Amino acid sequence: MSEGILLYAEVNKSGYVQPVFFELACAAQGLSGKLNEPVCALIICAAGYTETVKEGFEKCGFDKVYAVEDERLAEYNTDLYAKAAVDLIKEIEPSIILIGATNQGRDLAPRIASTLKTGLTADCTDLDINENGQLAATRPTFGGKLMATILCKTYPQMASVRPKVFKPLKEDVIKNTEIIYKKPDIDGIEKCVELLSFIKSVHDSVNELEYAQVVVAGGAGMKTANGFEMLEKLAELLNGKVGATRAAADMGIAARDKQIGQTGLTVSPKLYIACGISGSVQHIVGMCDSDKIIAINNDPDAPIFETCDIGYVGDVFEVVPALIKHCYP
Ligand SMILES: Cc1cc2nc3c(=O)[nH]c(=O)nc-3n(C[C@H](O)[C@H](O)[C@H](O)COP(=O)(O)OP(=O)(O)OC[C@H]3O[C@@H](n4cnc5c(N)ncnc54)[C@H](O)[C@@H]3O)c2cc1C
Repeated sequence: MSEGILLYAEVNKSGYVQPVFFELACAAQGLSGKLNEPVCALIICAAGYTETVKEGFEKCGFDKVYAVEDERLAEYNTDLYAKAAVDLIKEIEPSIILIGATNQGRDLAPRIASTLKTGLTADCTDLDINENGQLAATRPTFGGKLMATILCKTYPQMASVRPKVFKPLKEDVIKNTEIIYKKPDIDGIEKCVELLSFIKSVHDSVNELEYAQVVVAGGAGMKTANGFEMLEKLAELLNGKVGATRAAADMGIAARDKQIGQTGLTVSPKLYIACGISGSVQHIVGMCDSDKIIAINNDPDAPIFETCDIGYVGDVFEVVPALIKHCYP
């Protein structure tokens, strides 16, 4: 085992480093303080890209950034990226590797872990260092009814973390970050997975919902797709985005990519308005870090009232139109 925490910096389709990376940078500073180990980043990208985002790395307290650059890495490819990452990891031997649980991260992390024959705790909701200096990664289990803290017996210890679980650094941590450029050894690598085309979601991008300041979410109580149109209107007036429960997605009245909760997105907006949502643990885990939660439900015993800041016992089909009228008389 060697030293250091390595964070994977994902470059997204829009050409930006994914926001979850900066959230992980904040978590890594805390872990590094307990371990007294350096924090490094790995970016895999087209030649010349790292230079354009260098400043962001320097403000996040990284000791070193390993930039594996090559024109063949301009677009994400499972096999090429996994090879480039594994080679670098074998060379620098970090003790901990953290990856954002985005679509790309969920594809890449298990491939790295299986090649290195190490453990990966996926979709963590908390990270800590235990008394033996090991990574203690917490995630929901048994359908969200229990939180399990998992230790990895092998090194490097790997964890993926969903976007919005950690907040980004409040203040810049300026370091004289060393950027180390590497050429990947990817000649002749067989591509088992090929991206044929990229189809952009017709709905709001996942990032827009995850990073919205206001989320108006609907559950099975919205009853129909028309009910959700009402929520769209309220969200638009509040400059927010619409989210949904799994029940609403299962009923086909809300798009699956709007699902918030254990098996959906994690959000932490300034304001979360829960409409016709009962408040199951699996939903709560994805929105409980919202600053203010308003719940509207016609059942006074609905569990959501235990989580919210303001609860309104009433019919969503009366309350939401009244709110819309109030916002836009
Ligand atoms: C492994 C696993 C993972 C899961 N992951 C997720 C997840 O990621 N996200 C998620 O959301 N769920 C998830 N679930 C499902 C979860 O357990 C619940 O079934 C789901 O969250 C319930 O959604 P709901 O609140 O919309 O529906 P319900 O529980 O049916 O609640 C509907 C609510 O609407 C209220 N209502 C009805 N009519 C009105 C009205 N006119 N006005 C006001 N209120 C009204 C009712 O009183 C009720 O409280 C998961 C379950 C499992 C087992």
